[in-house]
Amino acid sequence: MPAERIDGVAIAARVRATVAADAAALKAARGVTPGLTVVLVGDDPASAVYVASKEKACKEAGMNGETIRLAASTPEAELLAVIDRLNADATVHGILVQMPVPKHIDAQKVIRRIDPRKDVDGFHPVNAGKVLIGDADGFAPCTPAGVQVMLVESGVDTAGKEAVILGRSTIVGKPMAALLIQSGKGADCTVTICHSRTKDLKAHTRRADILIAAIGKPEMVTADMVKPGAVVIDVGINRVDDPTAKKGYRIVGDVQYDTVREVASKITPVPGGVGPMTIAMLLANTVRAARLSVGA
Ligand code: NDP
Repeated sequence: MPAERIDGVAIAARVRATVAADAAALKAARGVTPGLTVVLVGDDPASAVYVASKEKACKEAGMNGETIRLAASTPEAELLAVIDRLNADATVHGILVQMPVPKHIDAQKVIRRIDPRKDVDGFHPVNAGKVLIGDADGFAPCTPAGVQVMLVESGVDTAGKEAVILGRSTIVGKPMAALLIQSGKGADCTVTICHSRTKDLKAHTRRADILIAAIGKPEMVTADMVKPGAVVIDVGINRVDDPTAKKGYRIVGDVQYDTVREVASKITPVPGGVGPMTIAMLLANTVRAARLSVGA
């Protein structure tokens, strides 16, 4: 029997509805409208699309969503000054600098300049540390946080399960592992992280009860790499040429969906899986930042 499809669009819609209700409640109780400011440096078209969808999502949830657009030539010091201003602005609860930034700007310096209490992307080392030690005050990066919500919402019992994560980036693989090794709901896993230097990848993936692919390699995970009955979460977003498609390309994940779904028990599609969760979790983090800012 083919795997059950985990519907990221539907789960994200539920998260966004909860966020909208929380935002309305905070406004009613404390007169505070949660606000996210996104800073976009340069004119990368993909980044412009992401930023526009974040602003739109904020507004749909009854939150303030503002974008500050800076020229690609903006000096690093000027960007840092913008962050300082936003850090000091009580109406801004979440700050996100859209990555990548132009090469003359040190991304790590930028991330470290954001007040950790407004770092709703969860990239500041303070938040990375809090997520690792299981401090509930921290902000987890939105993509792995979204994966964890998907596991819970689709009824996956994670306790005691072997979770194998493909990819060790600081935005997906590592924080994903940090979330799954905590004790509690959607966690309590035994975690393995694999990367490009891992020997015999298949031996690891075949052990996984929960397999999370975040490697950025189109359809690299094939059915023979998956344990029958495993839950497969595909974080990958890859563009592949497709002359039959209107745009000349299509988007695929890191997992070969059509074959793996014959082996897995549950699987996320691409698109329509993890992707929509990322923005939903960004909104959730922003509302939480707003609540924390007024001690609510
Ligand atoms: P990175 O390129 O930062 O990291 C990729 C990781 O995969 C690295 O750790 C790399 O290992 C590992 N890797 C690469 N090739 C192999 C291989 N053949 N075998 C095992 N491991 C391998 O990517 P990101 O974490 O930023 O993103 C991963 C994917 O997820 C991308 O497709 C990206 O577009 C997508 N993504 C999707 C999001 C969403 O909202 N759905 C959000 C963020 C990312 P090493 O460290 O050794 O180089």
